[in-house]
Amino acid sequence: MRSTPLHPVARLPEEWSASLAARGERSFAAKQVFHWIHRRGILDPAAMTNLPARLREHLAAEGLGEVLTPERVHRSEDGTRKLLLRLHDGATIETVLLPSVSGPGSQAQLDADAAAADDEDDEADAQAGATPRTRVTQCISTQVGCAMGCGFCASGVAGLKRHLGAEEIAGQVLLGRAMLEEGEDLRNVVYMGMGEPLHNYEATARSLRLLTHPEGINLSTRRVTVSTSGLVPEIARLGADFGGQIALAISLHAADDETRSALMPINRKYPLDALLAALRAYPLPRRRRITVEYTLVAGQNDDPAEARRLAKLLRGLPVKINLIPMNPIEASSLGPPGQERVAAFQEVLTEAGYSCFVRRRRGDDVSAACGQLVLLGAKPKVRRALG
Ligand code: SAH
Ligand code: SF4
Repeated sequence: MRSTPLHPVARLPEEWSASLAARGERSFAAKQVFHWIHRRGILDPAAMTNLPARLREHLAAEGLGEVLTPERVHRSEDGTRKLLLRLHDGATIETVLLPSVSGPGSQAQLDADAAAADDEDDEADAQAGATPRTRVTQCISTQVGCAMGCGFCASGVAGLKRHLGAEEIAGQVLLGRAMLEEGEDLRNVVYMGMGEPLHNYEATARSLRLLTHPEGINLSTRRVTVSTSGLVPEIARLGADFGGQIALAISLHAADDETRSALMPINRKYPLDALLAALRAYPLPRRRRITVEYTLVAGQNDDPAEARRLAKLLRGLPVKINLIPMNPIEASSLGPPGQERVAAFQEVLTEAGYSCFVRRRRGDDVSAACGQLVLLGAKPKVRRALG
């Protein structure tokens, strides 16, 4: 629970109705305010031209305004853009825009469910004679740093500085959408940036309601993926609160407790037995699958025997597996295995009948790849300054 009052950007339409009705405003005003913020991405009350002046003044007095200040855009050769954003208290977070690419290990393979939805959209576009558009996936952060302490992850090494509010989580998408380029559509949002979303459950759940609200950004729930290191009670809560509609990705990274606890301290609290039970109990809709993320760390979890254990562990669960060769981080001597070792690991899983892909490194030259979202920005080359 957050003890601070709810930020206006974090309010849902029914909450606007209640607060504005109490002030004697027309009931339609609640919808208008929510539209300005979440459909049009306008956070400055002075620009909300169809509202009466006294209401605009009231909104400004309540603190409605920009929640994130874009500081820099780092643009990678492969089209990936990392945005460095400053929060009201001076802390910085990052969000990444990933335009779709084709070929092995592409975005489409990364999110098979979303890809199926994309195919349906492409067909509709083709029938309407429309030119194909570039699909963009946005990766967002939920905390400044992270308390989970995974040794291969820059956020984990940094430790938790603070939780983000729902307005700061959803605000990243409002900004990301505003920064799309010609021909691009924001299609998927993945909670895979800095932080552990389920450790900041209230704000994460509220941001999911905001992003998927039909009066707002209106993302389809199957296009929104929450990635977790395995907080068992909150996996159940997410499943219950959203009826299993939100896509789930689980950072597994090992198939035995000893190996997993060495890489991920959270495993000591919620070992594999409990985690697998939570995944089995997740009320997944038919034909949808859980994404298993497996960061391959040389000498730690990359043995073919571990792949065989993994195949056994996941037996019977509807999953797709993403193998991610570890992106090196400055604070750790851990690193990725060689290509042959990655291929051997993948082959064991493919032979066992799993759909298993090696995730391409995207945005490597701007440290936008997984686990490289660092706290204070900006060692990488600045390709383009904002504004
Ligand atoms: N805390 C959540 C979501 C953010 S991390 C989670 O752990 O799932 C998103 C993904 O990036 C996780 O699967 C995580 O294990 C992976 N990751 C973190 N550091 C990485 C690194 N250095 N190289 C490759 N993947 C990494
Ligand atoms: Fe936190 Fe996820 Fe990084 Fe682990 S991998 S430290 S849970 S952000």
